[in-house]
Amino acid sequence: MQSFDVVVVGAGPAGGQCARLLAKSDYKVLLVEQHEDFYKNDFSSAATPLETLERFDLPQDVVGSFWQNLVIVTTTISKTWESSKTLGAVLNFAKFREFLAKEVQSYGSDVWMGCRYIRHESDNGNTRVELKKRGGDAIAVRTKVLVDATGPARAVMYAKESDKPAFLKPAGIEYLIEVPEETYNKYAKALIFFLGHKWMPKGYSWIFPMEKNRLKVGAASYRLEHEIITYTKPIKYYIDLLIKEYIQPENYKIIDIHGSTLQYSSGLKDVYYQDNIIAIGDAVSTVNFLGGEGIRHAMDGAEIANKQIQLYLKNKSSSFKAYQREMQRKFANQWNLSEKIGMKRYLVDSDEKIDWGVAYLSPLKIQDMMDILFYYKFEKLSKGLGGYLLRKLRYWWSAIAET
Ligand SMILES: Cc1cc2nc3c(=O)[nH]c(=O)nc-3n(C[C@H](O)[C@H](O)[C@H](O)COP(=O)(O)OP(=O)(O)OC[C@H]3O[C@@H](n4cnc5c(N)ncnc54)[C@H](O)[C@@H]3O)c2cc1C
Repeated sequence: MQSFDVVVVGAGPAGGQCARLLAKSDYKVLLVEQHEDFYKNDFSSAATPLETLERFDLPQDVVGSFWQNLVIVTTTISKTWESSKTLGAVLNFAKFREFLAKEVQSYGSDVWMGCRYIRHESDNGNTRVELKKRGGDAIAVRTKVLVDATGPARAVMYAKESDKPAFLKPAGIEYLIEVPEETYNKYAKALIFFLGHKWMPKGYSWIFPMEKNRLKVGAASYRLEHEIITYTKPIKYYIDLLIKEYIQPENYKIIDIHGSTLQYSSGLKDVYYQDNIIAIGDAVSTVNFLGGEGIRHAMDGAEIANKQIQLYLKNKSSSFKAYQREMQRKFANQWNLSEKIGMKRYLVDSDEKIDWGVAYLSPLKIQDMMDILFYYKFEKLSKGLGGYLLRKLRYWWSAIAET
């Protein structure tokens, strides 16, 4: 039976980055992914701030496009925040994960694609992991540490679906479409978010530039009861609506339809570790509930896990308790607040309230919007108050002047 220092199950952003860091530090790693290639589950919109490329040392060729403007569209209004500088990228999610897996191999470790995790059992202080290659027999390997990076499946931590606690389960679907160059150029440099009930009740939708002449058009629904909305159409209806009524391309071709369901633990009550098993990425809800950004955070969590796994392998630590502490210190406050704001925006607010919210944000600078949307500095929201009061004063003043 082959033995490894670490077996990482799931080659998403969390598993790929964790395996990459451990392999780079000369540990013997096995990265296992159930799909045969990364184009089979190319589900993420993969928009991320520029910081992600530098911080995690990602090459330009995993980038589909760069963006510098943010747009929010509601049922009745639209507001654009422009920047003269590049602010972020839309990754090619397949190429990005492929890059991480190749890095693992380049440091001398193993990647087994088309190989599914089945079960594990403890084995004299180590763990015996049973895997199954597509169309092949079961294979067993031995490992000192086992990493659950299976995203929402949490396949290692929970043996059966019925063992899992309740999660919030927003679902997203996205079309990758090819459009004429003229149409693409209109959307090439911006992330556009749609918040009004017309565009995606109980959620939000988006248009992101993927790469030349290709757009990602998607919608996410939070799938819980709304205080006002009683009926919504299927998610695909709202994607068609964006294409036909907002983009209005002369012609377009659907290249791919993909999607996935997040499974988010309200209040971050996930199981982070159990003996020599540690869970990372979406398997411990590192995705932000408000906007669904998870790639940067999954990689961040993988770095924290990598540090603790190395201490464990060097016998300098006997549990992953410190990992859970650091993760919760880093994410819990921001995530709990994001959840509250998200719940209100997507499941309580009327269209008028959403319009009011965007009008309130309109005097903010692009950097403030980046800080709110990507760095969760919600205290910046109070900056909108100055502009809002000023507009109200101007309105009253002109009303008085007219009488
Ligand atoms: C529609 C949609 C749009 C999104 N858009 C963005 C965005 O614009 N920006 C952003 O930052 N985030 C976005 N996210 C979130 C982001 O994609 C996730 O947070 C991120 O992919 C989580 O990484 P992960 O490695 O934890 O899990 P995953 O990416 O889910 O990877 C888990 C891997 O484990 C594999 N696996 C599962 N079970 C097994 C098994 N039994 N054996 C072997 N392998 C297994 C899966 O095949 C998968 O490859 C989006 C999510 C969705 C659903």
